[in-house]
Amino acid sequence: MSTLVVLEHGTGKWNRMSFEALSAGSELRDAFGDVYAAAIGQNIGELASQVTRYGVAKVFLLEHPLLADYTPDGYSLALEQLMRKIQPDLVIFPHTYQARDYAPKVAARFGRPLVSDVIAVNPANKTFVRQLFQGKLNSEVKFVEGPCFISVQAGAFRATEAGDGTGAVEPFHVSLEPSQIRSKPEPPYREAQRSVDLNAADVIVSVGRGIKEKENLKIVEDLAEALGAELAASRPICDNGWLPMERQVGSSGQTVSPKVYFAVGISGAIQHLVGIKGSKTIVAINKDENAPIFESADYGAVGDLFEIVPALTEEIKKAKA
Ligand SMILES: Cc1cc2nc3c(=O)[nH]c(=O)nc-3n(C[C@H](O)[C@H](O)[C@H](O)COP(=O)(O)OP(=O)(O)OC[C@H]3O[C@@H](n4cnc5c(N)ncnc54)[C@H](O)[C@@H]3O)c2cc1C
Repeated sequence: MSTLVVLEHGTGKWNRMSFEALSAGSELRDAFGDVYAAAIGQNIGELASQVTRYGVAKVFLLEHPLLADYTPDGYSLALEQLMRKIQPDLVIFPHTYQARDYAPKVAARFGRPLVSDVIAVNPANKTFVRQLFQGKLNSEVKFVEGPCFISVQAGAFRATEAGDGTGAVEPFHVSLEPSQIRSKPEPPYREAQRSVDLNAADVIVSVGRGIKEKENLKIVEDLAEALGAELAASRPICDNGWLPMERQVGSSGQTVSPKVYFAVGISGAIQHLVGIKGSKTIVAINKDENAPIFESADYGAVGDLFEIVPALTEEIKKAKA
């Protein structure tokens, strides 16, 4: 048996999640055997050779002028050709925007589903864990027959544990015609410069949808001010435009590692949790005692944030006076 890990790169370097996906592959080595990697693009030989020391048996180099820019057609056709040749039992993608765009297409070509957002794997019984209902339930998906396609959630596997060893780069000939590529790639999206560096903050007060209205933000702002903390938020708060995007914490926001992280009215979805894993102490305030955030919290208050937060702010002010 074997595993194929599909790598992703941009602006001349590997996306960190590629190494997390390799790490998932390494964890499954006992169950699925050798780990191979696929590097797709054009003029990426140098990049591909960097991966050889991550415990892979081989890095397949899929180069073609039509793969210079990402397109779902080009990438899925190239990967399909490699898969038909090497017939892996398991294919692992990092759960990035790009992989979400074309991985289902590749899976469909083989008449298989994509088991997305995997947060843990169990080689003993060949199962993959993914969350349901905003993290309230974990489901175990069992491998039955290959090829099986999974994507791994950001931060769920440690990139540094990708293993070692010395594999080799092996060019794989891809045949593509311009007529097969139906979309025209635009220049890649560039993120705006960040003016808030949440990573430098010792204390962060982060607010979630539990705050209900933009007008209510004042109570968390007061708490942040009393603590001398930075204000941050879960994604829906930034999506609503209530706080700027640069204050978003999580897999598509900033990764933070403060001494204390207050999660106020935040449920604790995996995409949020991966951004706060490095926090020394997590304090959660949530009215739902079953909210997943409490599994990660060091201290928790079950109750109404509209009562707890102002009372806490008052006590902090008193203690500081
Ligand atoms: C590809 C992708 C990327 C994502 N990236 C991110 C990311 O970077 N960051 C991120 O945060 N999310 C991200 N998400 C979204 C994520 O899945 C969750 O939807 C989001 O984190 C939920 O935000 P929340 O906890 O504020 O809201 P909810 O899940 O709605 O939780 C609100 C919480 O407030 C509590 N509450 C309600 N009223 C009160 C009250 N009066 N007092 C106390 N508690 C109360 C509720 O019990 C609930 O637990 C991403 C999702 C996807 C698909």
